[in-house]
Amino acid sequence: MRKQGRRDFIFKAIAGSAAAFTAGCMLFRGNRNMLPGIFSFAPAAVSAGVPPLTPIRESGIKEAVSAGTEALFYSPAERNRVSCELCYRNCVIAPGRRGFCRNRENRRGTLYNVVYGRPSAVHVDPVEKEPQHHMLPGAEMLSLGTAGCNFRCLHCHNWHLSQRSIEEIGRYYDHSPADVVNTARQLGVSIISSTYNEPTVFYEYVLDIAQIAQREGFRILWHSNGYIRPEPLRELLKHTDAVTVDLKGFSKRAYDNSSAELEPVLKTLKIIRESGVWLEIVNLVIPGINDSMVEIGDMCAWIRDTLSPEVPLHLSRFFPNYKLTNLSPTPVETLEKAYDTAKGEGLHYVTLGNVPGHEYNSTLCPKCSGMLIRRIHFKVEENNIRDGRCASCSHVIPGIWS
Ligand code: SF4
Repeated sequence: MRKQGRRDFIFKAIAGSAAAFTAGCMLFRGNRNMLPGIFSFAPAAVSAGVPPLTPIRESGIKEAVSAGTEALFYSPAERNRVSCELCYRNCVIAPGRRGFCRNRENRRGTLYNVVYGRPSAVHVDPVEKEPQHHMLPGAEMLSLGTAGCNFRCLHCHNWHLSQRSIEEIGRYYDHSPADVVNTARQLGVSIISSTYNEPTVFYEYVLDIAQIAQREGFRILWHSNGYIRPEPLRELLKHTDAVTVDLKGFSKRAYDNSSAELEPVLKTLKIIRESGVWLEIVNLVIPGINDSMVEIGDMCAWIRDTLSPEVPLHLSRFFPNYKLTNLSPTPVETLEKAYDTAKGEGLHYVTLGNVPGHEYNSTLCPKCSGMLIRRIHFKVEENNIRDGRCASCSHVIPGIWS
């Protein structure tokens, strides 16, 4: 009989029932900015070992969601309204209504997070898929996402989750923070990541998972659009090892495409970097939206001067999706020019994403140009980092290596 791998275990975990699991697969479209359509998975045989996640039937959603959990970071406003102080949307929410993100609901003057403990996507991924290139190369992580988002990116690669409420998605899995940590332990992964949709909009769940998981020795990672306000950000960073932030571009036009603004994201990047938590940045290069080499050069110069030339930058290929199906995929030549621009601005660690097999998937030593980590897409083929240093020239390579 075939030995069951860890990946199979999570398939089983998601598969509380085969039908529900199949539905879960349909909801899942991969990580943010991930190359769409090439990763699919099939349900594995159910086996003992991991407590099953419980899909809530359609008829049970209203009742289950109405339980919720009281939100953090809000204050009362006049006429029983509440001001949410979690992100830069600054929603003032009337009784019985939800904020822009579709997740935070005002019930008689008390704000609730309706997706707490209810992920709509759970999966085991390699850490390279986040992407994180300077964190435990080749490690597996338990990745969770819920419903909703505080952005409206026209190009969203995960819109099936992010641009829907939990009711519109129609299913979720009942998994408390302690359950998440137990599942991660049984799967043998070393990292827990909040990802797929924006972690800010399931903040209380992310924070509670992080607090429990860190005590148990797990590394904590999340992938964000950076629109979280400073106070909740600093609180979460106390329980975080690494963050991946999407920098959508370096212009008003780029952020108009996401119905958001650039400045708050830059502030978040500075706070993360100052906190000492490991930071990597993703820039999805979209034709006609943010692919000017002047804009990319300005962005890289800002990263170099304000953060550090040692912050890794992932330049990722866009594929037509959601409301931008009229555009073509980013030409590989554009990404190569962007790579040259970033290196020309002095960034030490630049890679290309969503171009499987390209030589720029790999990380080179900024001192001796030797191969540090050879990757084919998300797969680590070779790792020449020894005790945090280049094996060839001993240059110190920043990151989390053990
Ligand atoms: S977290 Fe949601 S409810 Fe709160 S301000 Fe942001 S979008 Fe509005």
